[in-house]
Amino acid sequence: MNKLTELSNKNSNWSKWKWHIKNRLKSIEFLEYIGIISQSLKEKFKLLLKRYHFATTPYYFSLCKRLDYTDPIFRQIIPSIEEIEFNLPGSNPDPLAEEKYSVTPHLIHRYPDRVLIVTTNFCASYCRHCNRKRFWSEKPWVLSKRELEQIIFYIKTNKHIREVILSGGDPFFINQSYLEYILSRIRRIKTVEVIRIGTRVPVVLPMKITPILGKMLKRYRPIWINTHFNHPQEITKETEKAADILSLHGIAMANQTVLLKGVNDDLNTLAQLFTSLERMLIKPYYLFHCDSVSGTDHFRTSIEKGIELISALEGKIGGLCIPKFVVDLPNGAGKAPCGPNFLEKIDGDIAIFKTWEGKKFVYKGAQGAT
Ligand code: SF4
Repeated sequence: MNKLTELSNKNSNWSKWKWHIKNRLKSIEFLEYIGIISQSLKEKFKLLLKRYHFATTPYYFSLCKRLDYTDPIFRQIIPSIEEIEFNLPGSNPDPLAEEKYSVTPHLIHRYPDRVLIVTTNFCASYCRHCNRKRFWSEKPWVLSKRELEQIIFYIKTNKHIREVILSGGDPFFINQSYLEYILSRIRRIKTVEVIRIGTRVPVVLPMKITPILGKMLKRYRPIWINTHFNHPQEITKETEKAADILSLHGIAMANQTVLLKGVNDDLNTLAQLFTSLERMLIKPYYLFHCDSVSGTDHFRTSIEKGIELISALEGKIGGLCIPKFVVDLPNGAGKAPCGPNFLEKIDGDIAIFKTWEGKKFVYKGAQGAT
């Protein structure tokens, strides 16, 4: 039996999420075992893991097809020396200036009509490209009741806030009765219309999405789940079941993909990912240019690459499958959608378009009813 088969060997507990959490892969010995740490690199890896720790679920690891960085799952979860050795100019631990926009502990208020609560710093599996890597060196924490009260007070007194986003870490790792308590407190605020939950559980531990969780969430609708699939290799019968549970309980779903060098910066990969998501009733919402976060620069493609890929998807797959390609601008300047742009110019009543097949099209009547 080779190492990959041996490590992916499923046992009778495979369908139990608690077993996966209890048996998370997180030691340096494991990294040595899979052969990425040579004797000469051991000290560097110790330094790396001190700054950015490593943990993943046996389930998510079992999706690897190769034990090297050319595998899209492996590359997303296995630490690489580049995290401490490769830096592009301008990257920093908090490029979106979330600390600057924190109005009370763990509450970020950047846009007028919505706020984001960082509910915990715990995740089942730590993505190497995470834009909140700065939390990883802290001991695991969960938003306290006192902090929650401050947050509720803030939202109640800001009548423009119509949407509250629970983020993290992963909110689905808060004890379920406490998560329900948080949801019930938010739901009682009359001005809040929608609750969004950002979670990677459907990707890295789909067995945690149970009918009991679905039933609980249903009580606090309208809820949108924003999840984070990056590659079609992440779509399995377990993820399909999780998506089914959520949709059957009336939970709307959207997906934020990060464009990652060596993981999904390829047209067919993205097309396959986005069409699979559509089939699972998960709307591809954003394709993010990878943020300039320290420790993740080796994942960054050029912005042109993102525009080229998103433009090429037009016509290839249905519009419902195509997310918006955005750059989340540094220093909290906000999201900037980039392309595709099929309108070349407007000259009076004439608009010149380029079609999805690359042909020029002259459109008359550009000024509409004048
Ligand atoms: S699940 Fe989200 S918060 Fe957690 S490590 Fe991955 S990207 Fe970061």
